[in-house]
Amino acid sequence: MTAATLDRQTEATADHSSPALEAIDVSRTFNVGGGLFSQGKLLRAVENVNLRLRRGEVLGIVGESGSGKTTLSKMLLGLMRPTNGEIRIGGRSINGIGRPELSRLLQPIFQDPYSSLNPRKTIGQIIALPLQTHKSLSSANQTKAVEAMMAQVGLPPRLIHSYPSQLSGGQRQRVAIARALMIQPEILICDEPTSALDVSVQAQILNLLKDLRREFNLTYIFITHDLGILEYIADRVAVMYMGRIVELAPARQLLAEPRHPYSKALLGSVLTPNPHLDLPDLNLGRGFPDPLNPPTGCHFHPRCPQARPDCSTTAPTPKRDAQGLIECHLFDGEAA
Ligand code: SF4
Repeated sequence: MTAATLDRQTEATADHSSPALEAIDVSRTFNVGGGLFSQGKLLRAVENVNLRLRRGEVLGIVGESGSGKTTLSKMLLGLMRPTNGEIRIGGRSINGIGRPELSRLLQPIFQDPYSSLNPRKTIGQIIALPLQTHKSLSSANQTKAVEAMMAQVGLPPRLIHSYPSQLSGGQRQRVAIARALMIQPEILICDEPTSALDVSVQAQILNLLKDLRREFNLTYIFITHDLGILEYIADRVAVMYMGRIVELAPARQLLAEPRHPYSKALLGSVLTPNPHLDLPDLNLGRGFPDPLNPPTGCHFHPRCPQARPDCSTTAPTPKRDAQGLIECHLFDGEAA
């Protein structure tokens, strides 16, 4: 029996006409530095985020450290509650889905697989763990399912009795992917899944994720700080800056012709697929504002080469158009 043949406990309740995953006006704030007698400061980690993913889609979320990507991913995984707004899976509020069903629908793949793999368990035991929680299979059937999944993700069968410390970084990430897929989830939230790997192994893992998506019709949220990776794997890309989505567009379009000044700067900080684009070099490694004291108006205005006088006083509002979503005064007055 392969993982693909494992039946789905919640199939009867899944609504396949609904989007696979939605974030509706989702915000998350933290009170930072408060004590018994002091109030602390409000950190707006994620602000009014709206996302809607269809089944089988790959949405890339890109931005610098501190842009809110990881907080958003924790809320999408049900590990953190939004302060405002709602997450829905298959049209159902995540609040009404119990933990066992949630982990069956949606699985994470993290940046550092080593820290998420129990060093005292063998690879076979680690991959089989979700089966023990979700399915009652005989030991022989569990082993068959594990062997089939190891073959699926390109792990040699001899590694079934090895320990995580005996594997390379790429092999460990394959184990993490195999474990996530054992209960046939619908959605994978991949948080920088290749950033700890060297470039050639990165490519192998990206190819694997691409193949698995096709085979299982998986929906991915792919969080990264690297726009180059998204060129390869994503259908659409959302660019986050200081907790807000400032541009969302089909990946090819956004990477070829970014519209938002921040998207242009991000693209300028990596190898661009279009060398003829005149992209600004904002030295994005520096100058990220203090999130506890965000700039007034458009949060990007102190770093923006196209800032106008009103950018420092008035926050732009998101506009939807044929190309996606854009939040910048340069597009004020264009069709919403
Ligand atoms: Fe730049 Fe103004 Fe657009 Fe902000 S609103 S990105 S400061 S042009």
